[in-house]
Amino acid sequence: MKLLIMGPPGAGKGTQAKFIAEKFAIPHISTGDIFRENLKKETAIGLEAKSYMDKGEYVPDEVTNRIVADRLTWDDAAKGFLLDGYPRTLDQVNFLEQALSQKNQHLDRVIELVADINTLIARLLSRAKEQNRADDTEEVITKRLEVYLAETAPIIETYKNKNLVIQVDGLGEIEEVSHRIITAIENK
Ligand code: AMP
Repeated sequence: MKLLIMGPPGAGKGTQAKFIAEKFAIPHISTGDIFRENLKKETAIGLEAKSYMDKGEYVPDEVTNRIVADRLTWDDAAKGFLLDGYPRTLDQVNFLEQALSQKNQHLDRVIELVADINTLIARLLSRAKEQNRADDTEEVITKRLEVYLAETAPIIETYKNKNLVIQVDGLGEIEEVSHRIITAIENK
């Protein structure tokens, strides 16, 4: 099962991705997590990513594509994966498609978590308090949503045109949303 989970920041992609990955026994690959791990270890990639993350901007495609291409070569990703927070730009969509087609692979489903923007802002602000994330100030949150709407929301259309998208209401209890996603994947 090769899956993507997409949706605006704060829609619960990370939380849901963990459940789905476990359910289908595939690795959960989050580019945001990879950047945060690199930042903690102060690697060159981490330090480069930080300047963008702190502003709510996207890390350049060239850097992001490279880390994903590398991660997809790991043995655990040979039969399937769930990508969370990638692709986010058209360049990344094209890169991923090429990387998969070179291995004669293709995506099976794209899960789109749908949620109201004002609810998301409130969620992100409360997460900022809980997790003390540097990229969760009100200014950065607004910027992240703007970048999402400008760059990432339109690329979901590409996947809709390929009939890969399953839209799921992202609001509600965590278990309720997971149940909706899993049912939708199994029934598509
Ligand atoms: P996330 O945890 O997925 O919201 O990612 C946190 C931050 O990491 C984003 O705001 C971006 O700065 C960066 N990031 C994560 N994934 C990507 C991506 N696919 N393309 C560019 N930047 C990314």
